[in-house]
Amino acid sequence: MKKGLRGVAFMMALVLALCCTVSALGEGQKYQIEENTGDNQKNYPYKVVTESAVLYLGKEDIELLGEEAFYDGMYKLLENMDRDFAEAREVMKGFLKDEVAPISIYTDFIGRAEEAQFYSGYYYGPEKGIRLFHNWEQGASILLHEYTHYLTYGCATVEVTAGAWGECIAEYVSKIACRNYTARAWHYGLMEEEKTVFAANGWVDEEGYPDYRVYYHGVAWMFGQPFAIDTRYLAVCDNMMTMTKEQQEHPMLNSISDLEGGCFIEFLLEHYGKDLVFTHLNIDGKGIRETYGKSFEELFTEWKQENEKRCEEWGITALANGK
Ligand SMILES: [Zn+2]
Repeated sequence: MKKGLRGVAFMMALVLALCCTVSALGEGQKYQIEENTGDNQKNYPYKVVTESAVLYLGKEDIELLGEEAFYDGMYKLLENMDRDFAEAREVMKGFLKDEVAPISIYTDFIGRAEEAQFYSGYYYGPEKGIRLFHNWEQGASILLHEYTHYLTYGCATVEVTAGAWGECIAEYVSKIACRNYTARAWHYGLMEEEKTVFAANGWVDEEGYPDYRVYYHGVAWMFGQPFAIDTRYLAVCDNMMTMTKEQQEHPMLNSISDLEGGCFIEFLLEHYGKDLVFTHLNIDGKGIRETYGKSFEELFTEWKQENEKRCEEWGITALANGK
């Protein structure tokens, strides 16, 4: 009995020793939390420097979440962030200035910025920085989208008109071209029921995570269906809009949803190539016809047909129609 207990104690000690080794070699050591000595040190006493970013940690944000939850979330985000950022730069390769400086990322979970009411994160052009709102999970869902804004508005060799094209390209890079491991670690913010539907239909990747591309194309398809009329949605002009029959039948670039915008860029790239698409992210209706030889409505209608076919193959249209 005594011997047995000693055996258990030994095993416990071994397990504990192993745990300590793992945490000592874990993310905590890869990323050092440093004291921030910059001008913003009052609100942000700590920072973490990575290959592609400087993460500023808000004093009140740490208090809001509690130290343990705050740092757990932070390390979860850091696990994949640099890899995602590198992938986004790879997509934009050839259209970026040689040197892409590390981006400043600030936590703002307490909602100091007004934008925190409406968004999960925000890229501020003049300060070339990103703010993450609410918590790590919400911030993670939008981080790569905001980083793409930094690349296109702050680092690209081509001109991107603020607004519709900027949103389309940010959605494309963060939700279609890249796996977005940071958002994936939180299952892309999908609800439990949604995850179950994904698993049941085989819309999962090799590790069983939801295949977000299926979700994304599927919801984009839904926006063109009669049942989507009167639905509120975020449009690429960065405003909330209501879907109308008119918009479905005669779409305007500024009024398409973010999800349609990302897919539409994918369609343009597949048919016309990066060299044309990435150098024409500043065009309006007339420019679209001059560049592509077709109107926006014609191009968008072609995309819709292609996307519908894809969604039929995935079984999304059948599921939505209750078959
Ligand atoms: Zn955006």
